[in-house]
Amino acid sequence: MESRPQILLTRRWAKPVMKALNESYEVTAPTGDVPFARTEILKAQDGIEAFCPTAFDPVPADLIAALPESVRLIASFGVGIDHIDLDAAARRGLAVTNTPDVLTDDTADTAIGLMLATCRRFWEREKTLRDGLWAGPTPGGALGTKMTGKTLGIVGLGRIGHAVARRARAFDMPVVYYSRRRDPDAEVSLGLVWCETLAELLGRADIVSLHCPLTEATHHLIDRAALAAMKSTAFLVNTGRGALVDEAALVEALRDGAIAGAGLDVYEFEPRLAPGLAELENTTLLPHIGSATRETREAMAWRVKENLDAYLAGQEPKDRVV
Ligand code: NAP
Repeated sequence: MESRPQILLTRRWAKPVMKALNESYEVTAPTGDVPFARTEILKAQDGIEAFCPTAFDPVPADLIAALPESVRLIASFGVGIDHIDLDAAARRGLAVTNTPDVLTDDTADTAIGLMLATCRRFWEREKTLRDGLWAGPTPGGALGTKMTGKTLGIVGLGRIGHAVARRARAFDMPVVYYSRRRDPDAEVSLGLVWCETLAELLGRADIVSLHCPLTEATHHLIDRAALAAMKSTAFLVNTGRGALVDEAALVEALRDGAIAGAGLDVYEFEPRLAPGLAELENTTLLPHIGSATRETREAMAWRVKENLDAYLAGQEPKDRVV
């Protein structure tokens, strides 16, 4: 029997995809839910052709340099590519792929969920109820902020930014956006208004939602000055990447009332939170679950397989980023 190409996964994926992978490839993957640590990755035998990390697994230059000579492809599970040192991959001549599109809806849903939960103080009110402290409904006290009709500011009008803008129409929200490139089609079809600068968007939006990738240029895009440029009644929502925001400055802004609240799915130093963040009641904090549905996680795994199948068969993979 012809030998099958060898691939290495840092984590196990959905069962049907693992079954299909095992039919096409010789798969090295953890047997349980614990991901491969760096030492286990480095035990990989020469002969492995593709290394398949997830967006939660750092792939720095020294790990790339230490991968077996036989590796030709890094096929990542997730759309973000900030966890991979792309320059190091390019220097070694490795191709890199990601999994766009299939997680767009879930991540946009998560952003809208965070907006609503934070404006309406869902978490804080739910906690009161579960803690047995609810004395029944009252007309005043512990009131939230109405989200319908508020101005939404989208930073990074890509796949997920567009999906959030589409959802915002159901809430009658005027939408302003800031991206490096203007999108005249979306301005017409979705009624979006372009802001020439981030500062302009921060001054106009009642809710600022981050959807750009983490790069050198966007690291701490929302710093102390940016937070000060937001309305004191405004909310920040981040389903992009934690380090888009200076988290220590965010804690101060939330504590001092410089902004009204924040809904976060991602953190600067995951899985740790900045000191003080967890104690703040004007936040909704999710543990990086933007794409965490059964349907989407399986679709992401199939998308990695498509990229593997194409590249290892000598074709151009659909989601090549390097
Ligand atoms: P995308 O289609 O590439 O969209 C990103 C947009 O950001 C681009 O359209 C780009 O437009 C804009 N952008 C890039 N640099 C910018 C800058 N310096 N300032 C302002 N805008 C900038 O990517 P996507 O699929 O929507 O995903 C976006 C990000 O969401 C991913 O990179 C990932 O980090 C994050 N994500 C998180 C989760 C989660 O679980 N929480 C799940 C999926 C994705 P221009 O080039 O015109 O600026």
